[in-house]
Amino acid sequence: MAVGLGLIGTGFMGKAHALAYGAARAVFGDVPPVRMASLCDGEPGRASAFADQFGFAAATSNWRAIVEDPDVDLVSITTPNALHCEMALAALQAGKAVHCEKPLAITLADARTMAAAAEKAGLATLVGYNYVHNPAFTHAGRLIADGVIGRPVHFRGWVDEDYQADPDLAWTWRAKRTEAGLGALGDLGCHLVSMAVALMGPIASLIADTQIVHATRPLSDGSGRAAVENEDTASAIVRFASGAQGTLCTSRVAWGRKNRLDWEVHGTRGTLSFSQERMNELTLYVNDGPAARQGFRTILTGPGHPPYGAFCPAPGHQLGFGDLKTIEAASMLRAIAGGPPTRPNFTDALAFEAVIHAIDEASRCGQRVTLQTS
Ligand code: NAD
Repeated sequence: MAVGLGLIGTGFMGKAHALAYGAARAVFGDVPPVRMASLCDGEPGRASAFADQFGFAAATSNWRAIVEDPDVDLVSITTPNALHCEMALAALQAGKAVHCEKPLAITLADARTMAAAAEKAGLATLVGYNYVHNPAFTHAGRLIADGVIGRPVHFRGWVDEDYQADPDLAWTWRAKRTEAGLGALGDLGCHLVSMAVALMGPIASLIADTQIVHATRPLSDGSGRAAVENEDTASAIVRFASGAQGTLCTSRVAWGRKNRLDWEVHGTRGTLSFSQERMNELTLYVNDGPAARQGFRTILTGPGHPPYGAFCPAPGHQLGFGDLKTIEAASMLRAIAGGPPTRPNFTDALAFEAVIHAIDEASRCGQRVTLQTS
């Protein structure tokens, strides 16, 4: 039976979800077909235009109509952060599976409420931590689990963009805690945490420092300047529950950096590294063989790294960001059809987001902050 999709939001992520659910069955074959049931955008004109463009049967400017629509089995939430909690809780209450963009919520208390509601409802939930679905990333996880680099002892990661680097950029809701929540940590740092935890296990404690680089920004109507309330940069030194150490850094004001989501894992036998801007590659060094022949080698993804082959039979032809969303959407469709549970679900996302809020807290109090890891 086809899964009825209700999509809320038609911006960057709304389009990504629409394309992903539209492609999932064609790419994978083993997932149920999707019925594009209904689409919502706050602006009525936008809703009907995008319903037509994306192939949805109905359009509305009232998100509650999506949640209550009997034709909708699965609700995709791609609206700004402050709206996720209320929309997700209503969708779960109405018995729908929920695919929500990251971060789950703007406060940790709301994220906890969402995770508790998802567990109580027993419905499939999925959060848009898309980078963990990259075949290159899944392969990295296997290499580490198989002991190829020995015992992982040190994770070094950073995620930088420059979308707030210009000091003259107008003030927006993104700078306001009650509307955006955290700054670079909520937008970017949480993705890095999702990758660090997937490779190294849970983070047990951390110390951290954050800064607001541009304290005020001009208001777009020319009436003055308003305060930036959340961090432009953050740096944390973390201890994983395994005993391994790590550093996590993020910046939204790093000129020239577009999606520099990079990490490196040092193990007792080798090193593994990855850069999102070269998302089809892993770089591996193993301390093996004659020293004169040692060196880093590049592993280019191909059909040997599932599910790459579902998209393309030829290695080296490269997947893109949208393909990660298709893998993510397919996992949700499989779960709805009784397949393996979705990950990262709301509970997983709560754990990632507890880390970014702990970074914020550690920076404020100047103390080591301990996290619950069980
Ligand atoms: P966007 O501004 O491009 O799109 C937001 C959409 O929500 C717009 O279509 C807007 O009209 C709609 N909207 C706003 N209020 C609404 C309401 N009350 N009812 C219905 N629709 C409403 O934003 P975006 O970049 O797509 O970001 C949306 C979410 O996706 C954010 O939570 C963001 O953190 C997340 N995001 C995730 C990734 C990722 O890699 N997973 C990347 C970018 C953004």
